[in-house]
Amino acid sequence: MATTDHIEPHKISVCVRKRPFNKQEMTKKEIDVVSVPGNGALLVHEPKQKVDLTKYLDNQVFHFDFSFDETATNDLVYKFTAKPLVQSTFEGGISTCFAYGQTGSGKTHTMGGDFTGKQQNTTKGIYALAAQDVFTYLNHRKYAHLDLSAHVSFFEIYNGKVYDLLNNKAKLRVLEDERQQVQVVGLEEVYVSKAEEVIKLIQLGSACRTSGQTSANANSSRSHAILQIVLRRNGRAATLHGKFSLVDLAGNERGTDVRSNDRSTLVETAEINRSLLALKECIRSLSMNSDHIPFRLCTLTKVLRDSFIGEKSRTCMIAMVSPGMASCEYTMNTLRYADRVKEL
Ligand code: ADP
Ligand code: MG
Repeated sequence: MATTDHIEPHKISVCVRKRPFNKQEMTKKEIDVVSVPGNGALLVHEPKQKVDLTKYLDNQVFHFDFSFDETATNDLVYKFTAKPLVQSTFEGGISTCFAYGQTGSGKTHTMGGDFTGKQQNTTKGIYALAAQDVFTYLNHRKYAHLDLSAHVSFFEIYNGKVYDLLNNKAKLRVLEDERQQVQVVGLEEVYVSKAEEVIKLIQLGSACRTSGQTSANANSSRSHAILQIVLRRNGRAATLHGKFSLVDLAGNERGTDVRSNDRSTLVETAEINRSLLALKECIRSLSMNSDHIPFRLCTLTKVLRDSFIGEKSRTCMIAMVSPGMASCEYTMNTLRYADRVKEL
């Protein structure tokens, strides 16, 4: 197995990834305001204006566990972020990997990859790379005695409601029992026997996620998508051994400026902000080993309750940033948020 196997995952690791300029930004000759000197550092050169109107650059430095520049591949990002969590899942852990950032910053590219339909143009994302490793570990003699099998669920949270991406977007209820166990009632959990099957389900679910929309990125950027790979001990009870949740979060822009000002958009935006704040609170409670996890604050944190409790919870957040000056304000918001969820 690869050399990163020895990396002991932190309880919480926070990384940042800068995407390359796209064609549109190149045409507009956008200025690159983000630099990645390495060693987990990332700099933003924020253009400012003095009272006498002279312009200057305000350099802001941030430090994370890893920082990836625009040349980093999904494979590289995966190795240092989600890969150690796959192993942790086999050790019986509850692992969670989040992609956070403004719309267009590369969350879906990083998590889901880019499927063009043509095999040679396919870039695998963390979902597919994690699935491959799950089967490598499943077939490894180190874990053979556990007699495990893998199962996949894929769902979306939009406006606080859960929709099953593996079942035609069926709307599902979230219930909490007296032992505070949270259940998404009726969620499809598909048994998988090889990575290709997982990749098929990812494609199916991703297509379901974006179907029926006027503009390609519109609604999918307003919802959280959660892929779960569940390891169960074989046998009649099929008890849970470990769980890996991979979350492609909704765009974090506080966007009255992003789309029209109508009421439904405002409700949508308020709900996204609320859920991202709740997520921050829950991750911070995890890092402080707090007994009180405010997981009831929203649907996202409710369905991820297990991710925030217990000794075996491991979390990785990948904050995505766009390189351009036009995105500078969003980039700063993203980095401040990521800075706040770092382990204390
Ligand atoms: P988000 O999900 O955050 O809204 P996307 O992942 O859809 O953003 O990315 C927006 C566009 O930028 C897509 O066309 C995607 O392929 C491209 N892109 C994002 N990150 C990268 C990257 N690291 N390398 C190449 N292209 C990227
Ligand atoms: Mg997306």
